[in-house]
Amino acid sequence: MKHQARKRFGQHFLVDDSITESIVRAVNPRSGDNVVEIGPGLSALTRPLLERVDRLKVIEIDRDLAARLRSQYPPERLEVTEADVLTVDFAQFGAPLRIVGNLPYNISSPLLFHLMPYADQVRDQHFMLQREVIDRMVAQPGDADYGRLSVMLQSRYDMEKLFDVPPEAFDPPPRVVSAVVRMIPLGADRPRARSDAAFSAVVAKAFAQRRKMLRRGLGEWAALVPWDEVGVKETARAEELSVAQFIALADVLHEAGVVGAGHGV
Ligand code: SAM
Repeated sequence: MKHQARKRFGQHFLVDDSITESIVRAVNPRSGDNVVEIGPGLSALTRPLLERVDRLKVIEIDRDLAARLRSQYPPERLEVTEADVLTVDFAQFGAPLRIVGNLPYNISSPLLFHLMPYADQVRDQHFMLQREVIDRMVAQPGDADYGRLSVMLQSRYDMEKLFDVPPEAFDPPPRVVSAVVRMIPLGADRPRARSDAAFSAVVAKAFAQRRKMLRRGLGEWAALVPWDEVGVKETARAEELSVAQFIALADVLHEAGVVGAGHGV
């Protein structure tokens, strides 16, 4: 029976085999890989992935699609978790994990943030997203697209935009151009803030007023920053700061007891 695409679940099904092939080629799955697919839908990616791996885990919110998948594949090949991916604890899937998905665009940012705490157990992530979101993910300081998403994700992942995907590759076609991104978690030797909470609080506050100079944008915190020592000008704007500079700012504010110590965040 034909499945009626559900808008509330961001359903746009891939119907262009050459795009599917390009995604699977980019992932390059091997038989023993521990792969989790988010939003398998009508199996456009699930099918070719299952041709390459012994076993696949999928997370699907749509009850009808989950039932269809269970009827198509035996549980020893396809493990279906019927759930909202934003509530799923990825620790249960083990490591090293490879996460793949043509994601529902309406939850892309929350999902990327949901996955961050699991980065240590992840080998790589390949996602199809709205191109505009991927442009923001990989943007560099000074770029118009550079913002909170860029800084937070770049502090944890090495990211590469792989290729664009036109609306006609989907049924129904979305209104926007899509693209595929590869995300590889940075290792334990990456630059790290002393407090993750302080880092996210400073980045969020700075970008809340991205065009304001930091001495204004950071409000009462600005007076506590030894600007020269941190190597940041108080007249700089959030959109000009590198990830390393945000880490330095977070560390001094954490040290001053303002953020990330259970108050002020
Ligand atoms: N992978 C399929 C493809 O490429 O044709 C479907 C992609 S479609 C853009 C997104 C899929 O994610 C749909 O199957 C949808 O039901 C599912 N989905 C949407 N929101 C979800 C959520 N919160 N948790 C898990 N799956 C979700």
